[in-house]
Amino acid sequence: MEILVCVKRVPDNEENEIEVNGSGSDIDRGDLVYSVNEWDNYAVEEAIEMVDEHGGSVTVVTVGDDEADEVLRREMAMGANNGLLLKDDAFNGSDGKGIATVLKAAVDKGNYDLIMTGAQADDGAGQVGGMLAAMMDVPYASLVNKIEVIDDKKLKVGREIEGGNQEMNEIDLPCVLSIQTGINEPRYVGIRGIRKVASVEIPTMNAGDLGVDAGAVGAGGAKAKRLDYFVPELGEGAEMLEGDMDEILDKVIELLKAKGGLK
Ligand SMILES: Cc1cc2nc3c(=O)[nH]c(=O)nc-3n(C[C@H](O)[C@H](O)[C@H](O)COP(=O)(O)OP(=O)(O)OC[C@H]3O[C@@H](n4cnc5c(N)ncnc54)[C@H](O)[C@@H]3O)c2cc1C
Repeated sequence: MEILVCVKRVPDNEENEIEVNGSGSDIDRGDLVYSVNEWDNYAVEEAIEMVDEHGGSVTVVTVGDDEADEVLRREMAMGANNGLLLKDDAFNGSDGKGIATVLKAAVDKGNYDLIMTGAQADDGAGQVGGMLAAMMDVPYASLVNKIEVIDDKKLKVGREIEGGNQEMNEIDLPCVLSIQTGINEPRYVGIRGIRKVASVEIPTMNAGDLGVDAGAVGAGGAKAKRLDYFVPELGEGAEMLEGDMDEILDKVIELLKAKGGLK
């Protein structure tokens, strides 16, 4: 099975204090530590396990700048066979549709049975996978937390739905799946693995190579425009509980009783 996994380089939540920038247009991106989007890492692990069992290859692709190369190498150190960097100034400032347009053009250049994305990334839009499937005119399943290969034409996929319930579906290949965290246990990537792929040549494609109309992507082609970016003001009614753990627990129990949550 030939699998393409879309991966995004995002600020690492554990390593950064995220703040809004001075003009309120974005987060402050100075001095941030970046890593691969957590959901995408699960998708890559799942793809590697599927290829180990059923054969084929895993390609990781990203739309980004030169620095995005590091997330491709990390996922290759993990076990992905190939990397592909989609890079062009024309892609800067793309909205979700722009990113999906660029990815679709890359899909058309290959011969993939299965495309995976993360369920969401740092902007939390959760739209790239669905848009990509629509552009490809193939079936799509979101929030996938289980995959079984039925044969080379079909998969069985589990989806996490409301209330902790689980849904199982059969889906035709080729298709797009957006992967939920927890589907597997991503393997550890050691420094030796990273060194092994440090000098591997990673192909790069620009708008011209991909046949993407530069005017349809990037900031100019964005149909969704971010108007403001801010931390909401604190509302009324929050009470900070102070004291040691036992005192705080007593206060929580008192409050729950007072509000009818505990009898
Ligand atoms: C006007 C405007 C300008 C913007 N400018 C920028 C910008 O300059 N830089 C920026 O990073 N974002 C920018 N964004 C945000 C951009 O919309 C998001 O990158 C895109 O919508 C994806 O949203 P998300 O990160 O929430 O991804 P989701 O849709 O939540 O992500 C789901 C999955 O899609 C895949 N995916 C998402 N992005 C990429 C990518 N770049 N490469 C490969 N796979 C990917 C991953 O598999 C990911 O797990 C802009 C948005 C708007 C509206």
